[in-house]
Formats: sequence, structure tokens, C-alpha cells
Amino acid sequence: MLQWPPPFTIKQSARAKHLQLQISERKGLEVIVPRRYRHTDIEALLNSKRTWIEKHAAIIHDANVPVEIALPKEISLRGLEEVWQVRYEPCVLRGRGKPVKLLLRPQQQISIYGYVDNKDACQKLLLQWLASMAERYLIPWLDRLSEQTELGYKDVIIRGQRTRWGSCSSEKVINLNYKLLFLPPEHVVNTLLHELCHTVYMNHSAQFWQLLARFDANWQYFRNNRKDLSTYVPAWVEADEITAEHLPQAII
Ligand SMILES: [Zn+2]
Repeated sequence: MLQWPPPFTIKQSARAKHLQLQISERKGLEVIVPRRYRHTDIEALLNSKRTWIEKHAAIIHDANVPVEIALPKEISLRGLEEVWQVRYEPCVLRGRGKPVKLLLRPQQQISIYGYVDNKDACQKLLLQWLASMAERYLIPWLDRLSEQTELGYKDVIIRGQRTRWGSCSSEKVINLNYKLLFLPPEHVVNTLLHELCHTVYMNHSAQFWQLLARFDANWQYFRNNRKDLSTYVPAWVEADEITAEHLPQAII
């Protein structure tokens, strides 16, 4: 049996005109709320839809309800051996531009100011900053290794893929994930060398590993430990639930 009131999360929506309910396997029961709403309305809505909600009790029960993910106050870019502090400064921005803006201050400080309650917008700005840091540091890093190894490539693109650290096309275009900045430097080097070796062998054949071994003495260690690397990436980077807010059960 489903407890009542059932567990749910609240999702703010600027577009929603009225309260809505949504049930999915991944997120469980969600209440979509417009900008202005009263908590008592939620209780009434849940009660009026009780039969429907209880029909989906199993889904709600098994759902992986996301916990609220906090935005970082500190960002450790292990690859660059840099730690950045982040400050969130609520203020009113004039005009109809972006809800928040990002400012870089001396000594590795980032200020995000504006409507900082809009966590999605804050997260987006931080990811853009991360991508710009990757452009600035990963590309010259790749160039240095390319010169040292005499393995040339045609172009490099910085992206934020979910599952890949890097890739290399048959046209020798290398894709690098900006999340590489979170990895310890030796892992970054190994990934860059790995992609450079793909400019010669477009597979993971014995020749490919032999070539990599010429440049990276610890290639076997890295080959066996690639899967664990995602633990270096902080939760706020991958979160697409950053606005999800847990409502205390007490209010209904
Ligand atoms: Zn590969």
C-alpha cells in the first residue's frame, strides 16, 4: 500500500498554467507547479487524483526520486591543479537578458549574480565556464602531446558528452570532454594520448595498445581503471534535476 500523502517532488515551471501531476519510472510522482501556487492546492489535487496515483503506486514506490543537488561552492579542477571558489550573489539584473551572469574575479574566484535561485541557469553558466576552461587548457595540452609524439590530428572539438571522455573520427577529428578537467593530470594525459593513437589505429587492436605503450608507460593501469573515473565528476555537473526541490511532508 502506498503511504498517504505519497512521496513526491516539486518541479517549478514558468510555462505551467496550473498544477499538474506527472508519474514516471525515473522520477516517481512529480507535481508541476506554476510560479504562483498555494501548498494547500497541492493537497487538494493529490486527494482528487488519489485513485489514479494509487494505481501507479508501484512506480512511485520503486522510483529513484532525485535528491536535490546543491550547486558547488568550490570547484576542484584536478587536471589543472586548481581550486576555484564560487559565490552566488542575489541581485536584480536590469533589462530582459539572462537570469544570471558570471564574473571571473582574481585568485580563482567566480561570482554568479542575478536571480541565483534559478539553479538551472547557474548550472548552465558554470558548465559554459568549464567548457571555456577546457578550450583554453586542454587544446594546448593536446598540441604539446601531439608534437612530442608526432601524432598529428586535424581538428579538436570540446564537448560535454555523458559517457565518453574522448573520441577520434576517421578524419582525425578529436572530441574531448570538458569533464576531463576533473580528472587527475595523469588520467588526462592518458586520455589525450589514447585519442592521438586513434589517429593511427581506429580500433583497440594489439597494435593500438603497442603504440600507446610507447608513449605511456602506465597504459595498462589506465586501461583497467577507466570505468572508475566518473567518480571524479561532481554530481552538479551531470544533474538535470538541479531545480528539483524536496518538499517536507509536513506541509500537506
Ligand atoms: Zn579508444
